Amino acid sequence: MKRLLVLAAAATALFANAQTYPGSKPVSIVVPFAAGGPTDRVARDLAEAMRKHIPGSNFVVENVNGAGGTIGATKVAKASPDGHTLLLHHIGMAAAPGLYRKLQYKPLEDFEYLGMINEVPMTLVGKPQLPANTYRDFENYIRANAGKLNIAHAGLGSASHLCGLMWQAAIKSTEAMTTIPFGGTAPAMNALVGGQVDMMCDQTTNTTGQIEAGRIKAFAVTTAKPLSSNKVLKDLPTLQEMGLKGFDLTIWHGLYAPKGTPPAVLAQLNTAMKAALKDPDFIKKQEGLGAVVVTDKRVDPAAHKTFVANEIAKLKPVIDAAKQFAD
Ligand code: ASP
Repeated sequence: MKRLLVLAAAATALFANAQTYPGSKPVSIVVPFAAGGPTDRVARDLAEAMRKHIPGSNFVVENVNGAGGTIGATKVAKASPDGHTLLLHHIGMAAAPGLYRKLQYKPLEDFEYLGMINEVPMTLVGKPQLPANTYRDFENYIRANAGKLNIAHAGLGSASHLCGLMWQAAIKSTEAMTTIPFGGTAPAMNALVGGQVDMMCDQTTNTTGQIEAGRIKAFAVTTAKPLSSNKVLKDLPTLQEMGLKGFDLTIWHGLYAPKGTPPAVLAQLNTAMKAALKDPDFIKKQEGLGAVVVTDKRVDPAAHKTFVANEIAKLKPVIDAAKQFAD
C-alpha cells in the first residue's frame, strides 16, 4: 500500500511538472561562449523558435564563456535539474574530455541529451591586411612567416581551436603560429577585423557576414564538398581540393539539460526543439549563415548521445597528437 502511495505521488509530481512547466520562470539556455558568436547565434535563433512552441514560455540566453566552453558546461552540469537551465554546446562537448585533465563534468554521464540542432562548416579566414588573396598564397605566406604570425581561437577545445590544430597538422606546420585564446570567436572576430590577429578558422555562422562585407579575407572551407548553394561562400575551395587529403570538419550543436531533469519536462523540451528545427524562419536564418539544420534521427536524445560518444573516440587521437592539454 505504502509503495502504491509513493508511486502515485511520483506520478502526480511528473504530471504536475508537465502541466506547470515552465511556469513563469524563464528557461535559461547557457551558451559557453561570448555573445554575438556562432554558438550564441544558434542559441538565440533556437530560443526564439522554441518560445513559439511552448505557450507562455520565456527562453533567455546566458553567455558563460571561458576555457573553451568548459566553464559554461560545468555550470549546467551542476545546475538544478528542473528544466530551467539548459546547455547549448558544440563539438567541444566531445573534445573536452581528451583535453582537460581536471574536467568538472562527464559529458556522457552528467547531462540529459535533448538532441542535435545543426551542422556548421568552417572557413579559414585572415585579417584584411594579409597580402594573400588565394588559399595557395595564404599557405605559402604562413610558411614563409613561420614564428611571426598568430591564430585566434575561442579557447582549448573550442571549434576554432580544433580546426586550427587540424589544419596546422595537415600542412605540417604545427610550430608556425602563436595561438591567441578569446572567450568566443565574436571578440576574436573583432580582433581579426581590426588586424590585431592574423588568422582564424571559424564557423560560417560568424564569418559569412564579415566576408560578404569585405571586412576579412576568406581562403577555404573545411567541408569535403564546396558550399555551392551559399551565395557568399560558393566559390571558396575546400581544403581537400587544396591538397589536404581527407580534411573534413563540420561543427555540430546540441541541446542538453542537467542529469535528473524530469522525463516529462525533457519530453516537452524535445518536442519543442524538434518543432523549432522545422520552423521555416529558423531554417532560413541558419541556412543563410551556411548552417544545415539536422533532420535525421540525431534530433532524438539517444541517437545524439551515441553520436557524441563516437565523436569523443574520433577526436581523441587528433587531440593526443597535438599534445596541448589543460587543467
Ligand atoms: N562556438 C564558439 C563561439 O561561439 C567559437 C568556437 O567554438 O570556436 O564563440
